[in-house]
Amino acid sequence: MIEPSLGSDVLDLIHESIFLRDLDGRILYWNKASEDLYGWTRAEAIGRIAHELLISEHPDSIACLEARLRETGRWDGEFTRTTADGAQVMIEARWSIRRDGQDVPIGIVETGRDITARKATERVLTESEYRYRNLFQAMAASFWELDFTPVGVMVRGLFASGVKDLGQHFSEHPGLVREMMRATRVLDVNEQTVTLFGRGKKDELLGSVEPFWPESSTQVFAQSIVAAVSRKLNYVMETKLQTIDGREFDTLFTASFPAESMQKGILMVGVIDLSARNQAFAAMEQSEFRYRNLFEVMAVSFWQLDSSGLNRLFSELRAQGVSDLSTYIDEHPGFIRQAMDNCVAIDVNERTLTMYGAKERSQMRGPITRFWVPGHYDAFRHSIEAAYRGEPGYLEETKTRALDGREIDVLFFVTAPPQMRAKGMVLVGNIDISELVASRVALESMQSNLIHAARVSMLGELTASIAHEVNQPLAAIATYGEAGLRWLNRTEPDIAEVRDLTIRMVADARRAAEIITRIRGMACHRTSERLSLPLNNVVKEAVQFLRHELQAQNVELSLSLTPHLPRINADRTLLQQVIVNLSINAMQAMEQAQVDERRICIATSCLDAATVQLTVEDSGPGIATVDLERLFDSFFTTKKSGMGMGLPICRTVIQSHGGSIQASNNSSTCGATFTVTLPAAG
Ligand code: ADP
Repeated sequence: MIEPSLGSDVLDLIHESIFLRDLDGRILYWNKASEDLYGWTRAEAIGRIAHELLISEHPDSIACLEARLRETGRWDGEFTRTTADGAQVMIEARWSIRRDGQDVPIGIVETGRDITARKATERVLTESEYRYRNLFQAMAASFWELDFTPVGVMVRGLFASGVKDLGQHFSEHPGLVREMMRATRVLDVNEQTVTLFGRGKKDELLGSVEPFWPESSTQVFAQSIVAAVSRKLNYVMETKLQTIDGREFDTLFTASFPAESMQKGILMVGVIDLSARNQAFAAMEQSEFRYRNLFEVMAVSFWQLDSSGLNRLFSELRAQGVSDLSTYIDEHPGFIRQAMDNCVAIDVNERTLTMYGAKERSQMRGPITRFWVPGHYDAFRHSIEAAYRGEPGYLEETKTRALDGREIDVLFFVTAPPQMRAKGMVLVGNIDISELVASRVALESMQSNLIHAARVSMLGELTASIAHEVNQPLAAIATYGEAGLRWLNRTEPDIAEVRDLTIRMVADARRAAEIITRIRGMACHRTSERLSLPLNNVVKEAVQFLRHELQAQNVELSLSLTPHLPRINADRTLLQQVIVNLSINAMQAMEQAQVDERRICIATSCLDAATVQLTVEDSGPGIATVDLERLFDSFFTTKKSGMGMGLPICRTVIQSHGGSIQASNNSSTCGATFTVTLPAAG
C-alpha cells in the first residue's frame, strides 16, 4: 500500500498518477503525474468529485465498479476519462481502499496510467506483450526513509580536507562510499519494501542500507550523494540492488532531496522493481521478434484473433452443463454464427492483405463472420468443437471469402495452446490452396471428361463399325443385283448366273443382318457368342466377304494357313470383322499409293502351344514410323474420308478375346503387317 504520509514529494516522482479520494469520491490528494495526465492542477482537483471531474466511463458503469471495490477492497481495470482539454484517455487503474488503525475505510487510493497510446497498438499485442503488461501492472513502489545525517557529516569532512570533485573522489575511493552506506540508517520502509527486499519482517530491514547495495552499484549510491550535495531536486537511476538474502535484481532507484527534509538529514528513496519488467522485455524482445518474424514473413495468411467473447460463450455453456459442443450445435445451429461474431480479428499479416484483397489492416479487423462463406461453416464449427474439448489446434480444408466476395480455398488451421486461449488469444493460419484445388478440380473434370469421351468413342466405334461393316455387304448386294439385272436384261437371260448372284446376295444380306445382330449385342453389353472354332475356318469365311472387293481392286489374295492349329474360343462374326477390316485397310492403302502389284497375304500359325497367330500382310506403302504409335488411337486416320475407327475396333475385339494386335512394316515387301495373337482354347 502506498503511503502518501511518507511525503508527497516522493509520490510526485512517480510517473503513475496517484490520487486519494474519500468515500464520497472527493479528491483529497493529487500527485504531479495526475496533473500531467488529466490536466487539472492540484488546486483545481482537490475537493472535486473524481469521477465527475474526470468523466469516468466504463461499459459496466462506474457505480458497478465502485460496488466491486467495496466488496473486495480492491479493483483494477481499464476505463475512459476525459482530460481538462477534452481529450478522451484510456486509463488503466488500480483502486484500493485505505483504512484507518481500526480497519475502518477512510478513502480510496487510485494509481492510474494513461494507456491510450498503448491501447491503440494493443491490437498488435503478442502474448509476450500481454505478459509484460501484466507484470508491469503488478509493479508497485518500495519506499525508504533514510537517516542521511552521518553522510552529511562525512561529506562536509571531505570538503574540509580539500576534496573538490566529490564524484571523482568517490570513484577513486569506493571503500569510502561503502562506509557511507554503512552509516546510512533505514528509519522506515513500506510494505512493498518488505516484500521486495526482506523476508517478511520489517524490523530486519531497519539497519544500514549497505546490505542492499551490491558492489557493482556502489557508484550509483555515490552519484546520488553527489546529486544531493549539488542541491539537485532528485536523482533517478536504473541500478541493481539486492535483497537481504543477497539476491540482486534490477530497480529504478529514485531519491528525492526536498530542502525541508534534507535539513533534517532525512532522505526519501523510492525503489521500483524492474526485474520483472526487464525479464519481460528480454523475453518479449525475443519472442516478439520470433513471433513477428513468423507472423509477417511467412507466406501464410496469419490472423490474430481475440476470442475472449467465445471464451465467455463457452463458460456459459459449461455452466449449463454442456459437455459435447457438437450435439449442442446440432440442436442450436445458430450458435455457429454467434461464435463467429465473438471471434474478432485484431491483427493480420501482409500476406492476409494480399490474399483477401485488403489495402489496410483495419479493413480486416472485427468479427471474422464475413470471411466465412455462408454454407461452408463446417471447418469453423469443427475448430470450435475442438477448442471446446480443450485441443490446442485444429486443421481442415475449407473455403473462405475475400473482401470482394471471391472464394478462396484454404487450408485453415488454428493454434491456441490452453494458456493462450484462456487469455482469449487465438492464432489462425490460412494457406491458399486455390491453385491446388483448381488443378484437382481440373483433374477430376478431365477424368470424367475422359470417361465420357471413352464412352462416346465406344459408341462411336460401334456406330462406325456398323456403318463400316454393313456397308460392305450392302455394296456387294448392290453390285450382285446390278450384275443379275444385266444377266436378266440380255436377250437370253442367264438364269444360272442370276441364281448364283442371288445366292451371293442372300449370303451377303444374311451377313449384314448377322453383323447388325452381333453389334447390337455388343452395344447392349450382351456377352458375345463364344465358340470353339478353328481359326483357319474363320479366315476362309471372312475372305468370302472380300472376294468382290479384291476383284474390283485387282488385288491378289494369298492364304498361308497352317493346318491343325489349336482351336480358339471366339466370336466368329467379330473375328471376321477384324480380318475384313485389316484386309480392306490394306486394299485402301495400296489403292491410295497406286501400288502396281497389289498383294495381300493372310497367314495363320502356331506361336506356341497356347497361342495362335494371324498375320495380314500387304504390298502397300507401309506405315510411317511416326504413325505406328497412334495407329490404334480412335479417330486416327490418314484418309480423306477415313474415320479412324477400324483399327481401334479391331483392337477392342482382339483384346476382348484375350489376344493382342500389333502393326509393323514388313522389311521384305515394304508393306504393312498386322499381327494378331489369340490364346488357344484350353
Ligand atoms: P481409317 O481406315 O478410317 O483411316 P483405321 O483405324 O482403320 O481408320 O486406320 C487408321 C490408319 O491406319 C489409316 O488411316 C492408315 O493411315 C493406317 N493404316 C491402316 N492399315 C494400313 C495399311 N495396311 N497400310 C498402311 N497404312 C495403314
